[in-house]
Amino acid sequence: MAAFMDPTWNGRFSHFHLVSKTDKRSRSVVRVRDIEIGGDEIVVMAGPCAVESERQLLETAEAVAEAGARILRGGAYKPRSSPYAFQGLGLEGLKLLRKARAETGLAIVTEVLSEEDLAQVAEYADLLQVGARSMENYSLLEALGECGRPVLLKRGMVATLEELLGSAQIVAAAGNPHIILCERGIRTFETATRNTLDISAIPVLKTVSHLPVIADPSHAAGVRFLVPILARAAVAVGADGLLVEVHPSPAEALSDGDQSLTFRQFRDMMDDLEPYLAIQQEARQLCPELLAVSGAD
Ligand code: PEP
Ligand code: MN
Repeated sequence: MAAFMDPTWNGRFSHFHLVSKTDKRSRSVVRVRDIEIGGDEIVVMAGPCAVESERQLLETAEAVAEAGARILRGGAYKPRSSPYAFQGLGLEGLKLLRKARAETGLAIVTEVLSEEDLAQVAEYADLLQVGARSMENYSLLEALGECGRPVLLKRGMVATLEELLGSAQIVAAAGNPHIILCERGIRTFETATRNTLDISAIPVLKTVSHLPVIADPSHAAGVRFLVPILARAAVAVGADGLLVEVHPSPAEALSDGDQSLTFRQFRDMMDDLEPYLAIQQEARQLCPELLAVSGAD
């Protein structure tokens, strides 16, 4: 087994020394308020694609908290491919996220789109999301070095794992080692799904990097019925967490309704995940190398 687990991947990842796995550092835990990501528990982050209204957000926050999510997601600043699409509520959205945190105890993850918004978003969020489209926004990545918040770094839709780790290295080199990597599907020739969930990215990243790795089955699938099954697959291969879109009424969502789960579907997804969580725990115990999570910090 050991022969297959070269943490430098034949030298290819050896130059990202701050985020690469080493003999001394095989695993790091990122703390978001009192929640540990990359530790023993799998952390689920859930909520609407975009914050749309107080009612939409608070109802969703309560529903996902009750089903077992620990972190509420919701975009206040949205990267949209059309200038005519809903762009997010901005500051008002951030204030609603803060209110939802106060009412439910959930931590908050939300996207930061530009350096100009960074100080404001960091004031409200517990975890700063860098979206797929921003993975190569190097000035934003550098600015995140001093933001004082952990970073959720999504893989760009045409980015290799080497490029993803390069972006993580930029954030770490700028002074912020608190980074969580996220596989959210990549562009391939396949069009049946919105993106192709690169399932092998999860064990590869966990082999070469000490950073926690989560999966976003919603943006990978693009259709809600596939989300729970992709979530199970991601957990079975070692994901430290999930990022899932949930909406009170997906048909009326202002963004990503097709891939958003209803409250009921999210609850069922969480219940059905149980055996897969057990598979991951068992695999870690039986064969720590399999999920590349062995060794001390
Ligand atoms: C999102 O999380 O809503 C989002 C825009 O994701 P991505 O950057 O992965 O497309
Ligand atoms: Mn979305």
